[in-house]
Parts: sequence; structure tokens; C-alpha cells
Amino acid sequence: MDKTLTRAQITQAVQEAYEECKNISGGHNADYIPFLANIDPNLFGLSVTLLDGTVINVGDTEYKFGIESVSKVLTAILVLKQHGADAVLKQIGADATGLPFNSIFAILLENDHPSTPLVNAGAITACSMVEPKGDSWGKWEAIINNFTDLCGSEAQVIDELYKSESDTNFNNRAIAWLLKNYNRIYDDVPMSLDLYTRQCSVGITASQLSICAGTIANGGLNPVTKAQVFAPELAPKITTLISSVGFYQNTGDWLYSSGIPAKSGVGGGVLGVMPGVMGIAAFAPPLDVAGNSVKAQAAVKAVMKKLDLGVFNGDRVTVTD
Ligand code: GLN
Repeated sequence: MDKTLTRAQITQAVQEAYEECKNISGGHNADYIPFLANIDPNLFGLSVTLLDGTVINVGDTEYKFGIESVSKVLTAILVLKQHGADAVLKQIGADATGLPFNSIFAILLENDHPSTPLVNAGAITACSMVEPKGDSWGKWEAIINNFTDLCGSEAQVIDELYKSESDTNFNNRAIAWLLKNYNRIYDDVPMSLDLYTRQCSVGITASQLSICAGTIANGGLNPVTKAQVFAPELAPKITTLISSVGFYQNTGDWLYSSGIPAKSGVGGGVLGVMPGVMGIAAFAPPLDVAGNSVKAQAAVKAVMKKLDLGVFNGDRVTVTD
């Protein structure tokens, strides 16, 4: 069915969703990364980017929080750009694990590949695939420049967070070496792990993340900068990965109840992609047991419900003035 939404309707839905969700309690800040435990749990931002470049921001949308696992989406795009969709499928995979993001068991179950670039194992493998091979600085530049292109503005590592993660990432070290055992790290192991840790420690705003989501929703064309960041044919590939595993073991429940493919991070961020319509991002630190922000999930769901949108609704959506 054809469906028309006005910018004013969308703006109102975002504002109402923010108001409805701002007093939701429940969840806890991630505490296995000490820096994250101390972030103000009351921070809350909601942002929508439309494909004409309009960015609708409500609340703490300029606060720089740890991007954490949402970074996996951005670097998966880089690796898709550098190696192509077939190589990503072959060298990493595109399967849901049905298990927590940092699962070692998942690697043992699928020893032929690390499943998907959107869990820790596959994300460390993705960092090992970033070109130029063997050049830690060159690889980091490729990763962070890709962040800038997707988000439309620069982002920097939060040094204290990077140190906090590097000092405590014992589980990820085990994952990296286990992957090496299966020949699934394609560069130096400590370097690949360090790049992963560094990308997770980047400070990002909800506004920047919604522009990134809008770029994916817009077939790789950044709606704000108007730069073609990646080829249009890669957009359905990244959205498929997000759909299948974006909320880890809760992904099916999430997609079923929200209607939008989305990716979470333990910093409290959620990035959602409604292809051809909009990108959305929300941020609030307290998480549920699977590591997904309680308030951000509620806010994204509320926007989708108010606009009666859903990726499987079969509607042809037009946004007008
Ligand atoms: N840096 C975190 C980790 O590797 C990211 C996890 C997440 O956001 N789910 O554990």
C-alpha cells in the first residue's frame, strides 16, 4: 500500500516518543567495562534522519557516548566495501548465533567461520580484514575515516574508555586467539583485537548515529553530506546482517515487536534502519540482560508504532513536507 508521512508528523512522533519514554526505569549500566558503569544513567537522546537530510533531535543527542558494538556495523560496511559481499560471507559469515555477543561457545559450535561481523568474534575478524594489511595505523585511519563518512562528522576515541576496555578485555583476547586457531584472523592477532577495542571506544552522538543509519537507509548515500559512502547494492547486505543478529539472542523478539532492523551497543546506543524511509538512533545507558538499552529500545519502538511503520509491512512510504 502507498503510505504518505509528513515531516511534521515524524517530528511529532519523535517528540512524543521521547516524552513517553523519558521516565522509563529498569536496566543497569554495563559494568564489566568500568568506565561505562559510571556514566549518568539518566542521559537519554532520540534522533531520526530523513533521506532529505532533515535530522530530528530530541534530548541528549549531542552527548558523546561509547559506540561499543554499534561500531561493528560501521566496520562491517568498510570490509564489505574493501572485499565485497561474497568475501564477507565466506571469510566471516552472515548467520545469527542465537547466543550472547561475546560467546565463545558460538565459535566452538561454528568452527568453520565466526558467524557474523556483528558479534565480537566476527567483528574482530572484520578488523583483521581491514586494508592495508599489516599496517596498524593505516587500518585505524581506514576505520575512523569510514566512521566520519557514514556519520557525516568526525568522531574520536574516548581515551579513558579505550584504556578501561583494554585493561579488562580478557574474554575478547580468548576469542581472538581461538579464532586464530581456526584460521579466521587474517592479520596480526593483537593488532586486530586492539583495532576492535579502539573502535568500540569511539565517542559518538545519537545524532551522528542516526545520520549513519540514514546513510544505510538511503542506499549508501549520506543524506546530510550527500556523499555516496558505499555502493547501493551493499545496503541490503548490511541491513540483512543487522536484521538477523542486531540484538543478539533477543533479535527475533526485537524484530517481531519493533518492525525495524536495529543494532545495539553496551554503551546504551541503538541504531535502526528503515530502508528507503529513515535512520533512527537512541541512547540511554541502562541495559537489559542481553546488553540492549531498555529506554532506547522503548523509544525506537514507540516511534515505529506511532508512525505505523514496519520493514515487513509491505508499504511504499513517501515522506513529504
Ligand atoms: N566492547 C564491547 C565488548 O567487546 C562491546 C560489546 C557490546 O556493545 N555488545 O565486549
